[in-house]
Amino acid sequence: MASLDMKGPYELTSQKIDEVVTRTSPGNYALGHVSDSTFIVLYVGRSDTDVGNRLKSWIGKRDKYRHFKFSYATSPKAAFEKECKNYHDFGGSKKLDNTQHPERPDDTNWKCPVCNIYD
Ligand SMILES: [Zn+2]
Repeated sequence: MASLDMKGPYELTSQKIDEVVTRTSPGNYALGHVSDSTFIVLYVGRSDTDVGNRLKSWIGKRDKYRHFKFSYATSPKAAFEKECKNYHDFGGSKKLDNTQHPERPDDTNWKCPVCNIYD
């Protein structure tokens, strides 16, 4: 079974984000909800600079995004590669709310570790 390899799930509230995301760091996250104690992944994302701040920008945006999971990344490139893996592992745009493949920053030549979109 696909794994996010992230901590959580936690409630998507400002207080909870402050409590569990204690470092300012690049990272990855998933948004969704808990159903029968299973975290249902609806959206995957990343921040190249501050994953906690990015999570806060989602509070109140969509009612169905009630919980999140997250992980820190050692670099923006590592965050990008993990986001790609999460995106493909959880069904891409067919299953997730993500409407498009994860984007790399304009000034990089990073490649998706799973598909050939950037080859
Ligand atoms: Zn890909």
